Amino acid sequence: MLICLDQRSHSGCQAHNPDNATRCQQCGRDLRFALKLQDPGTVIGNYRIEQVIGHGGFGAVYEATQRTSTGSKVALKENFESDMIQRFQREFQVLRALKHDNLPRYDAMFEQDGNAYLVMELVVGQNLEEILQRNQHRLWWRRSWPIRCSCAMC
Ligand SMILES: [Zn+2]
Repeated sequence: MLICLDQRSHSGCQAHNPDNATRCQQCGRDLRFALKLQDPGTVIGNYRIEQVIGHGGFGAVYEATQRTSTGSKVALKENFESDMIQRFQREFQVLRALKHDNLPRYDAMFEQDGNAYLVMELVVGQNLEEILQRNQHRLWWRRSWPIRCSCAMC
């Protein structure tokens, strides 16, 4: 699918368009430099894309199913910048070493077709944007504080 988000200017209405669209169905913008995301059902490595969780200028995060006997759900973070693969590898090395109840687990990193992918634990629930919208863009500090923190800082 093509997202109306010009990769040069990072502007657009962010409407979802089919892969073969040349102009945005919502605003009419030229889609030559639009953000291209994986469609549900697409297989990447050992994972089948289920849905888009979120996206930005440099990548996207998908809910995906592991193509193994367990069929576990994961979050698959995709980075579009081919020259950023080494940086993505360093990010994975750092994140994989972090163990905390309030952080997702980072399982693997791989490359396919010039894109880098991080395999992360899928955490189900509301995201920060949804929480902020529900609370008139305010967040009480106690709500943002870790509930079950066992680190040395708390
Ligand atoms: Zn548009």
